[in-house]
Amino acid sequence: MEFGFLPMLGLNLDYPLVLSTIIEHAAATFADTELVSYGGPDVTRSSYYEAAQRSRRLASSLSCLGIGPDCLVGSLAWNTHRHFELFYGVSGIGGILHTANPRLAPAQILYTINFAGYRTLFIDPDTLALAEQLAPRLKTIDRFVLMTSRRAMPATNLANVLCHEDLIDAGDPAFAWPELDERLACMLCFTSGTTGQPKGVLYSHRGTVLSALSIGGGNGWALSASDVVLGIPGFFHCNGWGVPFLGPMYGAKLVLPGRRADDAWLYRLIMDEGVTIAAAVPTIWLGLLEHCRATGQGLGPLRRIFSGGTAPPAAMIESYLRDYGVHVSHGWGMTETTHGATISFVPDGLSDDAAVAAMRTQGKPLYGNEIRIVDDEDRPLSSDGSTPGHLQCRGHWTAGAYFKRPELDLQTKDGWMRTGDIAVIDPDNTLHIVDRAKDAIKSGGEWISSQALEEAATQHPAVQEAAVVAVQHARWQERPFMIVVLAENATVAVEDLRSHLQRFVPKWWLPDAIAFAAELPHGPTGKLQKDELRRRVADGIIAPAIASSPSGV
Ligand code: ADP
Repeated sequence: MEFGFLPMLGLNLDYPLVLSTIIEHAAATFADTELVSYGGPDVTRSSYYEAAQRSRRLASSLSCLGIGPDCLVGSLAWNTHRHFELFYGVSGIGGILHTANPRLAPAQILYTINFAGYRTLFIDPDTLALAEQLAPRLKTIDRFVLMTSRRAMPATNLANVLCHEDLIDAGDPAFAWPELDERLACMLCFTSGTTGQPKGVLYSHRGTVLSALSIGGGNGWALSASDVVLGIPGFFHCNGWGVPFLGPMYGAKLVLPGRRADDAWLYRLIMDEGVTIAAAVPTIWLGLLEHCRATGQGLGPLRRIFSGGTAPPAAMIESYLRDYGVHVSHGWGMTETTHGATISFVPDGLSDDAAVAAMRTQGKPLYGNEIRIVDDEDRPLSSDGSTPGHLQCRGHWTAGAYFKRPELDLQTKDGWMRTGDIAVIDPDNTLHIVDRAKDAIKSGGEWISSQALEEAATQHPAVQEAAVVAVQHARWQERPFMIVVLAENATVAVEDLRSHLQRFVPKWWLPDAIAFAAELPHGPTGKLQKDELRRRVADGIIAPAIASSPSGV
């Protein structure tokens, strides 16, 4: 047959990749699979069938309130079943859910909501006090929805407050999802502001569905309907790392912990709910490990943990694997890549040592992401396992621009996203993050990795935590300055620590100065606040224990 100059299109149905297809799939296929929510005084147990019905009811009530295509709706809330159904209820009618981050500083929360500029904000009973504090400075919000039942509605001085369960009760359980273009925006997340004012990343239905499909597969979370997933990362941090979509897409039971994440409680949750897979930042995993060691308990059903957001200590990976038989999937990603873009790849049959070595890397790209390193002029560098360069990535769910900030130079001329990280890539495409570009120390024109120095320091038994920042140097431009928090009742001499570091890093990387501090400042996702540390060092609030001259640079 002749088609002239027309391209020959495939004859598949034109069935868009939209989020409502995920919850409807779960309702039809895994109707009885449990959704367990600990976000309140009582545990709520429901099913994907009920969750889909409640999402439709919510969508129909929101439509009646005039919320529809392109309308932003905000949430300031923890991981609960009501927050879960908000993802579907809002996006299913073409709306966009901004998951505001209650862990940001109040000024930053205000900035993100005012910058996005919408009318309706959903809040939890335990973010109510925060919302009351923010309300006078929220410029566009004129309606709050309290995510609770009518019976449990707390007293509040907020004006125009609706009850979440009233919206559910009033909604139509048979509401038909409107047909939407898969390229429409569905969610808005802001970066955690480690590198300046939070920046908004606007996700599409298509990118979100494809990313969940890819990350849930065998080389990623390896999910199936036999799994029980515990989603610890806040829904406001990269959509809870995709958990609200991964659970229903793969038919896994979903456990939502509300706002709690203390060690003993998490341990009980894992045991009581039979959790097989859980995701969180290294701080949480270190705490759980300490709890297990202190109590002598094993980790029962848990077979795999996901660690992301920052590099986990090697000793942690090793202990989970050797002492508890738990596989650590170490992923790299950022708000701009929707969530995980690479994940440590551990083929069957590796020895424990080789498996630990593989888990220490940031892994390989999942399908849908490509990575490369470039020089200062965006010229590609070799993936030879030793050359460091600026990491760039591209893919179906990588951000191409920031929300309402077209002036920010996120994308290169040839369509790659600048990550702001420095990395080395092996010939087999394994990623090693060296540092954030603004945290790496450029000494005599060469990079020194603050992360590698911090990792080396924490391998000393007396060191609980370490941070390294650059200080200006007349000859070398920048030199490393290390700040150490000692373990309880521990001491170490500065020179002993330097000797210890020298076992792990080149001599010219050794910090010129080491200071001791009682604690280090952390951001809302547990990351070190290096800007604040740089300020404290510059202001002399943190002073070196001993200053020595640059060593053999
Ligand atoms: P913010 O940029 O505000 O901190 P993100 O959560 O988007 O918020 O942070 C992404 C950054 O976190 C990455 O660019 C990288 O520097 C760091 N990061 C994420 N995962 C890892 C990892 N596994 N190892 C090292 N660094 C990581």
